[in-house]
Amino acid sequence: MRRSAPALVDPGPPSRVMSLERHIDVLVCGAGPVGLTAALALARRGGLAVEVIDEADVRAGLSYALALHPATLRLLDELGVAGELLEHGLAVDRIAFYDRSERRLELAVSALGGAFPFVLVLPQSRLEEVLIAPERAGGACAIATA
Ligand SMILES: Cc1cc2nc3c(=O)[nH]c(=O)nc-3n(C[C@H](O)[C@H](O)[C@H](O)COP(=O)(O)OP(=O)(O)OC[C@H]3O[C@@H](n4cnc5c(N)ncnc54)[C@H](O)[C@@H]3O)c2cc1C
Repeated sequence: MRRSAPALVDPGPPSRVMSLERHIDVLVCGAGPVGLTAALALARRGGLAVEVIDEADVRAGLSYALALHPATLRLLDELGVAGELLEHGLAVDRIAFYDRSERRLELAVSALGGAFPFVLVLPQSRLEEVLIAPERAGGACAIATA
């Protein structure tokens, strides 16, 4: 009796399989702020079809990139997402360092001037949502689990 050949690779549950049916110009590995910013820039400026893969099933369980500096905000503004981030974050224009109750140092971020004279504080998960949203809506960029 003829038997069908066993599958060479177990594809696992559907959520762990990356779609190979659509054309991809660039595959970005890691859907953190850096990977998502790179994907957005490639899709926006280069008109490329980008797919982002990540080994994690959930986005930003830990919030490391929670303070966005003026130079970062300028870059994100060029990509068209700074305005939305400002709606979700807290603009901090000075940072103080304490030794117990004694104020030892103050950094006036506002003295830097420019379009964003502050540090924007928001959860990394919200940053990632904003970075992925425009290209997900336009179909140019997608996230899959690695
Ligand atoms: C305590 C702490 C505080 C920080 N505070 C700030 C701050 O306030 N502001 C700031 O700008 N930066 C801060 N940083 C630095 C911050 O971690 C980075 O700015 C930011 O997270 C970098 O983003 P990333 O995308 O490079 O890395 P990550 O945020 O670490 O994302 C990397 C992604 O890649 C995925 N990945 C990794 N390896 C693989 C693999 N082999 N295959 C598939 N996917 C993979 C991970 O699952 C993850 O989702 C802080 C860091 C620490 C440790």
